[in-house]
Amino acid sequence: MMKDTPILPGSWLGLMGGGQLGRMFAQAAATMGYRVCVLEPDKNAPAAIVAEKHICAPYTDEAALTELASLCKTVTTEFENVPAAALEFLASKGVETCPAANAVRITQDRFDEKSFIKSAGAPVAPHLLIESDEDLKKASAPYFPAILKTARLGYDGKGQITVNDRRELAMAFEKLGKVRCVLEKRLPLFKEVSVIAARNSKGEVAVFPVSENYHRNGILAVSVMPARLDEEITNRAREIASKIIEKLDYVGVLCTELFVLSDGRLVVNELAPRPHNSGHATIDACICSQYEQQVRAMANLPLGDTTQVSKSVMLNLLGDLWFDENENVREPDWSQVLDIPGLKLHLYGKKQPRHARKMGHITCLAATEEEAMFKAQMAARILG
Ligand code: ADP
Ligand code: MG
Repeated sequence: MMKDTPILPGSWLGLMGGGQLGRMFAQAAATMGYRVCVLEPDKNAPAAIVAEKHICAPYTDEAALTELASLCKTVTTEFENVPAAALEFLASKGVETCPAANAVRITQDRFDEKSFIKSAGAPVAPHLLIESDEDLKKASAPYFPAILKTARLGYDGKGQITVNDRRELAMAFEKLGKVRCVLEKRLPLFKEVSVIAARNSKGEVAVFPVSENYHRNGILAVSVMPARLDEEITNRAREIASKIIEKLDYVGVLCTELFVLSDGRLVVNELAPRPHNSGHATIDACICSQYEQQVRAMANLPLGDTTQVSKSVMLNLLGDLWFDENENVREPDWSQVLDIPGLKLHLYGKKQPRHARKMGHITCLAATEEEAMFKAQMAARILG
């Protein structure tokens, strides 16, 4: 098969991982007439319960990967820690993986990721690789105050410790089990933003509007799209995202998280080789969503129109909302929330609510950003 022959509706598309990002991908694929086969170890996973076929097995199970490869010419991923070796195994069976194993491998390691971003000509925070007690000596005064982050497997602010000097650094390194870490200078943040971009095998690139993101306890809470920034900064952020996706020779959807510093400079924080939580609003607010874009990119089709047609404010719905004051589980009363005009409710079908677990999200749409924000505040107040 020619690398860029379109894979037409009616064909199978493969998916590694069964979380909510995979669920929304599967829904977009089904809308366009594709059949989705997901490989995921949990039988109740959000994507597994909506995909047409579910191979219930660990990601590295060779029999399961072989079965996926026999059905699908192309396979995508929905979380960053899909083992790169599993993607290589699929590629060895003739499958086009979007993204490729190499891109996933780079983004799985914060140090390699930062080195790559620098090589693409994009700015990163001053940082050091800390792998041994010997490396601690390199942490000179200008690196502090800093954050020590594990190089691998960190998410939602986990595996990170703030350190103010070399003594605290040594303690933090000890506490993180002396695993491979990155020491990163703490920067004065004005805003945190993200840019989602897509690229197909022809090398066409499409970039979504910039999103402005607010976290609570390390977890994304609110995203405002488009970000309230000077046009010049917005354009620079979008240019950085396209430069990175091109340099990675990436096919699929990639999110670039950036910091806007108080002096207007941009610094790339990290990459996610998949659709991103901050891009959920593209489903309701843009002509083509990040998930439809993922389908188009992996199927070698022209990319969709990323134009935003409504202003939007997205609220994550965490499991906390499912517990009453006595810690009993109950379904939130959605009827009042759904009475807000322009509000879209998305729930992921997770059977077990847990505190801090992402259960769904709300997107508030309006003609102006003030109105969208007002609706989001109303929804938040109703949900308590
Ligand atoms: P995760 O992979 O857990 O999302 P991040 O590297 O994105 O980890 O860090 C989590 C949060 O910590 C960021 O969203 C930001 O608020 C803050 N943070 C991370 N690095 C820095 C930095 N160098 N300077 C200031 N704040 C930072
Ligand atoms: Mg992050």
